[in-house]
Amino acid sequence: MADRIIYVDHAGTTPVHPQVAAAMHPYFTEQFGNPSSLHGLGAASADAVDDARTAIAEALKARAGEIIFTSGGSESINTALKGVAFAQQLAGAGQRIVSTPIEHHAVLHTLEYLERFGFETVLVGVDSDGRVDPDEVAAAVDEGTVLVSVMLANNEVGAVQPIAEIARALAARGESLGRRIPFHTDAVQGAGQLGLDVQALGVDLLSLSAHKFHGPKGAGALYLRRGTPFLAQQTGGGQERNRRAGTENVPGIVGMGQALRISEAARERFVPRVSALRDHFLDRTLQEIPGAILNGPGTSRLPNNANVRFENVDGQLLLEALDNVGIAASSGSACTTSSWEPSHVLLAMGCDQDAAAGSLRVTLGPENTVEEMDFIVDQLIRIVPELRGDAVASEATGTPA
Ligand code: PLP
Repeated sequence: MADRIIYVDHAGTTPVHPQVAAAMHPYFTEQFGNPSSLHGLGAASADAVDDARTAIAEALKARAGEIIFTSGGSESINTALKGVAFAQQLAGAGQRIVSTPIEHHAVLHTLEYLERFGFETVLVGVDSDGRVDPDEVAAAVDEGTVLVSVMLANNEVGAVQPIAEIARALAARGESLGRRIPFHTDAVQGAGQLGLDVQALGVDLLSLSAHKFHGPKGAGALYLRRGTPFLAQQTGGGQERNRRAGTENVPGIVGMGQALRISEAARERFVPRVSALRDHFLDRTLQEIPGAILNGPGTSRLPNNANVRFENVDGQLLLEALDNVGIAASSGSACTTSSWEPSHVLLAMGCDQDAAAGSLRVTLGPENTVEEMDFIVDQLIRIVPELRGDAVASEATGTPA
């Protein structure tokens, strides 16, 4: 392993901010009370949870009572999709759910699960940049549609979806059908980089995960607009107003609240700085490496996301070669890369299997520098032709590259 790691996998996870770790610490030690306990120690924990709830609600322009704490992005998404779908099914409202093929597996696999209970999923296609058309989403909604779910920003190619436009198109479609269509967005990759104002976005549910914005792993939140049909998916004690049972992860919740406060306060300065770094990396890579192609949109893209495919390069070998020189990057979704299947996102964007397998995702954070970008590009200039040589040699011998 190299002496120094250049970490460019912030879409995978982020380091916990030191102020976040400091804020969490007392809740592991002296402030260990159960928020449901009636003594002072319990009340102190309940106050800390309330304070974090207020922080999240302020960032989302929501009411505190509309925030449900969960164990992370996947649980928020499961809770949102199943909670709305089953409530609607019980009310006899219909069975159709509309989404896109580039969602995270937390959405796609939950939709597959719901299909086993009679739901029908309609996935509206995306263009070659990974963007969905709001009118196509609205057109997929019929009188039996119980939920629409479209992610705010894609974790692999960084495509930012026109959520507010989709919400407007859905409201118009809903009006013509005489029903309100609950709209969920997976905003896990948006926090710290994009506005999360649920009124401006026009969403009824929004999922967040603390470890993507310098908070702890295993802490998340779901925004649930008041009045949205919802059936609790985790039952037990009455925590989270009977919407998610279980003793609260107090240190995690405190950390999440603090992390969102910090990242929201830093956003205005962070976004131009990180997008300039990203553009420097992309400009050099696309100009100096033949056969390098940008995956995803040129604009309407997460400021910290670069995703490039290299023709005739095996993405796994590329990541290993980068790791050997201390560069921690990714080929796509951190949650699926262990299987080394071509990315479902790139395939949905019309990429062929080989191209989808030769992609590199670089996602930046506040600690990255221009010198690091130059180092990564210099390494790519050396490694990519070497790997292409391997590919040619192995074709000749018949061994897979
Ligand atoms: N949604 C998106 C877009 C993600 O990128 C991820 C994680 O990579 C998740 C959901 C799942 O979040 P968590 O790891 O907190 O379960």
